[in-house]
Amino acid sequence: MKNYKHIESALIHGGVDGDPLTGAVNIPIYQTSTYEQKGLGETSGWEYSRTGNPTRAALEALIAELEKGTAGFAFASGMAAITAILSLFKTSDKLLISSNVYGGTFRVLDKVFNNFGIKYQIVDTSDLKAVEEAFTKDVKAVYIESPANPLLTITDISAVSKLAKQHNALTIVDNTFMTPYLQRPLEHGADIVIHSATKYLAGHSDLVAGLVVVKEDVLAEKIGFLQNSTGGVLGPFDSFLLIRGIKTLGVRMDRHVQNAQQIASALAVHKAVKTLYYPGLSSAQGYAVNQKQAKNGGAMISFELKENYDIKKFFRSLKLITLAESLGGVESLVCHPATMTHASIPYEIRQKVGITDGLIRLSVGIENQDDLITDLFQAIQESEK
Ligand SMILES: *Cc1c(COP(=O)(O)O)cnc(C)c1O
Repeated sequence: MKNYKHIESALIHGGVDGDPLTGAVNIPIYQTSTYEQKGLGETSGWEYSRTGNPTRAALEALIAELEKGTAGFAFASGMAAITAILSLFKTSDKLLISSNVYGGTFRVLDKVFNNFGIKYQIVDTSDLKAVEEAFTKDVKAVYIESPANPLLTITDISAVSKLAKQHNALTIVDNTFMTPYLQRPLEHGADIVIHSATKYLAGHSDLVAGLVVVKEDVLAEKIGFLQNSTGGVLGPFDSFLLIRGIKTLGVRMDRHVQNAQQIASALAVHKAVKTLYYPGLSSAQGYAVNQKQAKNGGAMISFELKENYDIKKFFRSLKLITLAESLGGVESLVCHPATMTHASIPYEIRQKVGITDGLIRLSVGIENQDDLITDLFQAIQESEK
């Protein structure tokens, strides 16, 4: 029995709390590939570390508890997790995907799964009518991000899940940008939750990992089979580091969001800003839907500067905020989606969905917010033509 009710406690005590063998308060790093069998067929319950490892199992139990699912799976990267999930489908199956998803998700569908006859269709999933109209007999899943990467478009998870159920399709949600601390898609009817745990869950830009959570036994069995068969599992050391990162998720997210809210408010009234995307502002697309399904707007902000600002100069002028791929670490990172995270999406599609060459994506860290605003504003000023 768990002697707590709230997620802040589950982050620290969820899953396997400590080491039952020694009382160590942390689960040890079981750095082993295999396990002794006393006799033929007499195993300890552990057989081989691709199939199962106690450190990884503790992480998998933890993420399942946090997302309110029944089974969790840890992978060597977010893309390995996504690849395992896409392996649920077969030739002629079709997935509907949000019009802005992570570039790597688009790439693996377009360049890998397409070769096996698994089709995808890009749909503006924030538009329920568009989703409804896109359902054909071959659609087997809707794959969404909310907020989506990089335009932070909000999709109504429960409405889309309901539509998908009516059409016997699965709803898959990439919850990387929110984490279970801010949003739990399974509670809104989704079937599968995916994370790039590289981001907020690990939180320190020091490892690459992916997680999956489901609530139904049949799906859990299928995904467990795929995890073991395709083999992209997370190693024991990274599993340990990820458990350690998750313990501070609550305090980190509170600060990330507090900073993001201040920065977004400051950018909203800045004369250089042409467009601003932040789901925590009441003026944002999908604000009400996001408030309904998530705790707040998260800590990712995207924006465009007006034509008389040179964005190359802007990136070069930043002194505290780092220009880098990735997000969700304690340090603030900025990126240029068109040439970085979303470069694998063809130019025409990028233009169509609004990932312009002027778009800037900011992952707000947990530094002092005045230092961050000072850095941003001086770089904007430096970049004025
Ligand atoms: C980074 C990212 C991924 C891919 O995860 P990796 O850990 O880099 O393989 C998938 N989805 C989103 C939303 C991401 O930000």
